[in-house]
Amino acid sequence: MDITEIPQEGYEKVVKCEDAESGLKAVIAVHNTTLGPALGGLRMWPYASWDDAVFDVLRLSKGMTYKSAVADTGLGGGKSVIIGNPKTEKTESLFRAMGRFVDSLEGKYITAEDVGTSVADMVHVRKETTRVTGLPRDMGSSGDPSPWTALGTFLGIKACLEEVFGTDDFNGRSVAVQGCGHVGEFLVNHLHKAGAKLFLADIQAEKAQKLAEATGGTVVDPSEILFVECDVLAPCALGAVVNDESLPKLDTKIIAGAANNILLREDHGQRLREAGILYAPDYVINAGGIINVSIEVEGEYDEVKAEAKVKNIYHALKRVFEISKERNISTNEASNLVAEERLARKATPA
Ligand code: NAD
Repeated sequence: MDITEIPQEGYEKVVKCEDAESGLKAVIAVHNTTLGPALGGLRMWPYASWDDAVFDVLRLSKGMTYKSAVADTGLGGGKSVIIGNPKTEKTESLFRAMGRFVDSLEGKYITAEDVGTSVADMVHVRKETTRVTGLPRDMGSSGDPSPWTALGTFLGIKACLEEVFGTDDFNGRSVAVQGCGHVGEFLVNHLHKAGAKLFLADIQAEKAQKLAEATGGTVVDPSEILFVECDVLAPCALGAVVNDESLPKLDTKIIAGAANNILLREDHGQRLREAGILYAPDYVINAGGIINVSIEVEGEYDEVKAEAKVKNIYHALKRVFEISKERNISTNEASNLVAEERLARKATPA
């Protein structure tokens, strides 16, 4: 196993691994451990080059630092990527080699599943290192993060309703949900129970249809869901849905969903603000999953503790909205400030 460090400004440690025996080609980026060990998922993707893989892991690991800082998980930010096709190139020896690579960082980085990897892959990783989360519940782990992400998103939407309408009552409020997958389905069930009027879309039409039948929601064509007239638009599928093209056509008062990287660019946050649309920064509202995992890292996993901590997302968002108003900045700039201040305070205690 050949491990080489590739120093990057602003990152604590970035290492690359090539293992001829298993075919592993991977990169781990530890962005910042000021607040705790760096935790972030392991992505498997057929990157065209090492440079593409490094670019992605740098961006994602920094994002994890900010997400964990605002959610107060006691964790830092990191991420890892395997270069390879998750549909055709997965083997036990590949993930065991990845486990040894993770272990070589001696606890500075803790891994988890992500796009292209699964719980089964993490079970192989676990054979070589204890620095892995997201294993099956019967292995003492915190299990599927999606219900927690959905709960946090639901509570975050409540914080948005209160901010915009002065009450967090869902009765008479309409919510358009893009994506009825793992998180979307749990979220829709919370919204339905709370009395919201639902518009649902998924490119796998049967998912939206089934959920609409169970909740009395209305199915909308995926090409139209972003532009439905509603109180809340909840993107729960893809990133970059707020962009130059979509922005003028949005007909909502709030954007609050679980998808990562909802804004194509940071300045789209300011454009939403100018358009009078309240934006719940994605990494604040979708932190339920990482919060749940952080309970597992702290010690024995405890569901009650996880729920109590996920509920803080409501307050975290209220604080972000306050700062945005006080300083006259977009909500995404405000959440970045919260993260940066938390990191600075810990780095230089009074
Ligand atoms: P998922 O793959 O289970 O669900 C996504 C759904 O969106 C799928 O049903 C898919 O068919 C649908 N979809 C894709 N493109 C669409 C489109 N153009 N229009 C309508 N529907 C479309 O994924 P998930 O785990 O539910 O995650 C959803 C989003 O939340 C992702 O962006 C993910 O990165 C983010 N997220 C998830 C978690 C988690 O705990 N799972 C945590 C944080 C963030």
